[in-house]
Amino acid sequence: MRRGCLSVGTVDCDVCKSHIPYPERYVMVDEDDKGEEVLEKGGKSVRYCVECAKKKGYARYKEIKGEMVLTFLRESECSITEPLPDKP
Ligand SMILES: [Zn+2]
Repeated sequence: MRRGCLSVGTVDCDVCKSHIPYPERYVMVDEDDKGEEVLEKGGKSVRYCVECAKKKGYARYKEIKGEMVLTFLRESECSITEPLPDKP
């Protein structure tokens, strides 16, 4: 399970240990012991900076209204929360 967050300046990436300054984004991912994403509650929360999230496939750019927007959501979740506009 993923939660996109905004750093308040007091968090570090759990993977590369680099500081995440305000107001950069990061993502909290619940993972099991093997580092696999846990979809329900449980597992341990791991913080990923944008770079590490991209490497692991937790973050990607999506084009919304002509702008590239960073998203931490899975494709299935995006289609629910961000419906594509109807083509004329
Ligand atoms: Zn990192």
